[in-house]
Amino acid sequence: MDLRELYQEVILDHNKRPRNKGRLGAPTHHAEGYNPLCGDTIVVDLIVNDGRIENIGFEGQGCAISMASASLMTESIRGKSVEEALALFGGVQAMLTGKDDEGCCLADEELSVLSGVKDFPVRIKCAILPWHALKAAIEKDSERVSTE
Ligand code: ZN
Repeated sequence: MDLRELYQEVILDHNKRPRNKGRLGAPTHHAEGYNPLCGDTIVVDLIVNDGRIENIGFEGQGCAISMASASLMTESIRGKSVEEALALFGGVQAMLTGKDDEGCCLADEELSVLSGVKDFPVRIKCAILPWHALKAAIEKDSERVSTE
């Protein structure tokens, strides 16, 4: 199976059965993200305890790529330390913007599949949106972020 097929399959699967969808009851951190190019909106809730992301949930409305990326993100981030989560953000950003063609800094196989979005350049901001919201939530530097 080539990357394009794998990409389609992973995106479809996460759209059909989004993981960790739904707001958390008492998040310690949260942020909203908005991608005006596509109209995607997302809210990311985190429960951070002792520097570790114990739980993560998201709610949002948008295209298939943005929602699948959010679902993938929650799976890869849950249980990680805040530092690991931020490092993963950097890796995903590098991969999606083409600075890391091989996705080599990403050990996570499913996340690496997201690099297939590069065949659809207008969707790159959709894919990165949940990650920007995650970063904003962790850093609490902004309650609302935009990809523009
Ligand atoms: Zn979108």
